[in-house]
Amino acid sequence: MTNGSNGASALDVARESYRSISLYSPNRAPAAIDLSDNTNLWGIPPAASRAIHDAATSTVTRYPALYAADVKRAIADYVGVDPDMIVTGCGSDDVLDSAIRAFAEPGDTVAYPDPSFAMIPIFAQMNGLEGVAIPMTDSHDVDPAAYAAAGARISYVCSPNNPTGGALSRAAIEQIVADARGVVIVDEAYAEFASSNVLDLARSSSRVLVSRTLSKAFGLAGLRVGYAVGDPSLVAEVEKSRGPYKVNGVAQRAAVAALTEDRDWVAARVREAIENRQRLSNALRAMGLAPLASEANFVLVPVSDAPRIDRALRDRGVAVRPFSALPRIGDALRISVGPWEMLEACLRALAEVLDESCAHGSAA
Ligand code: PMP
Repeated sequence: MTNGSNGASALDVARESYRSISLYSPNRAPAAIDLSDNTNLWGIPPAASRAIHDAATSTVTRYPALYAADVKRAIADYVGVDPDMIVTGCGSDDVLDSAIRAFAEPGDTVAYPDPSFAMIPIFAQMNGLEGVAIPMTDSHDVDPAAYAAAGARISYVCSPNNPTGGALSRAAIEQIVADARGVVIVDEAYAEFASSNVLDLARSSSRVLVSRTLSKAFGLAGLRVGYAVGDPSLVAEVEKSRGPYKVNGVAQRAAVAALTEDRDWVAARVREAIENRQRLSNALRAMGLAPLASEANFVLVPVSDAPRIDRALRDRGVAVRPFSALPRIGDALRISVGPWEMLEACLRALAEVLDESCAHGSAA
């Protein structure tokens, strides 16, 4: 496109380093059974739902609290720390982006596991940093020696890791923290579904920031509320970088309601998700597949041609998240865990698609 007055194209005025950034664009086309984004498929927590419906006019017409102090207090109580150890954001995406900007100068490096959360290299590039992909080990854990060798200014790890699903070993995370040159960000977006977490490291080390979200177990992905836990001095830097008004007024009300009144509801859904995760993994194994062990609300299952199987599942009204050529894994489908009827529908469709593949002579 050209700019009328002088003929310059938009690219002439854009930042050089932005040219290779493309928009994050997983296939979000609606599907009858959507198991593609690891959200809470049981619905909205009840008190949060009431808070949304009952929001006062001023919640919409006036600006929200600058740094979401009420939400910070509710999160602090939920995770068991003081409110000055919490920073919130517009989803944990915003918290991660702000943290990456706060703790590294342009030109510095951010180390992250490969495979892991796809936005990390994009956030690095958006902030003028260089992403360094660190291959995961054969057992899908992080490799502390490779992190030490990278010597990055920011070390990012994700536990349970997306898309592999497994929790990282505590010893490996501790070693990365011990060797780190700068901040270590531990992304625990799926913490509620895991049997362990490293929140205590955020309390004991002034260089560990643990990021979390209300998008997964708490069922509020559409409201965009994330947070991080860390030393007050770390959190203050992220807050500077994040800026004011990032959590909107309705989201603040719903988040406080969910964190104070809906914890039992959330815990019950998490128990169901953990049970169904096991059932789903067993059913996939019974079909001759080899799902990876998961401590999240999704299961990653290797297949031989993920884009084709994804398309065939979508034709049957089922959406999952396909991955191509993941290191040490190859093609795979990531299936969100929800109510059993949804998983049954997915399993039925998958069985049909794999049967067809066999009939046409191509292995699953
Ligand atoms: N971290 C991980 C590992 C994720 O999978 C996601 C969402 N897919 C996020 C962070 C971001 O979540 P949100 O911005 O909704 O909090």
